[in-house]
Amino acid sequence: MAMLDLKYYGDPVLRKVSKPVENVDGRIVKFAEDLIETMGAKNGIGLAANQVGEAVRIFAVDPSLANPGEKPFVLINPRIIATEGDVGYEEGCLSFPGLFERVQRPEKVLVEALDIDGNSIRTERDGLVARIILHENDHLDGKLFIDYFSFLRKQMYNNKLKRLKAGEIEVFR
Ligand SMILES: [Zn+2]
Repeated sequence: MAMLDLKYYGDPVLRKVSKPVENVDGRIVKFAEDLIETMGAKNGIGLAANQVGEAVRIFAVDPSLANPGEKPFVLINPRIIATEGDVGYEEGCLSFPGLFERVQRPEKVLVEALDIDGNSIRTERDGLVARIILHENDHLDGKLFIDYFSFLRKQMYNNKLKRLKAGEIEVFR
């Protein structure tokens, strides 16, 4: 397994709409394992492929904070089938080191995807795991959590976001 390089806000790959995986072959399995390893090494609880520079529709989720003992997994070509509820909670993102802000999202999600063995799966999640899935799924469409910030929040963070984007600072403080 190998550690992958994280891409930070300002890298155009984070705004790309990612392409579907055509075939869950050995190369994809290896990439998925590396994605999980990188997420763990960076203390993340979710990581999308384009956050390591690969614009393909895969993301990793670590559900263990919400469900102790449940192992990290990947979803390939995920499709959100249904959502329910609306809840605000503080979020961060490995592409925005040090930035944490409350974001409103649905409370529950029903998602279809392929797993790491290429099997079709359907899973219903709520709470933190639903939030991770929705946050990571947004990444696949080039959408970032800052896009949910209110106008006033954005104004407040504008200067630092510009500096982060320009690579002048590495951590949001
Ligand atoms: Zn993120």
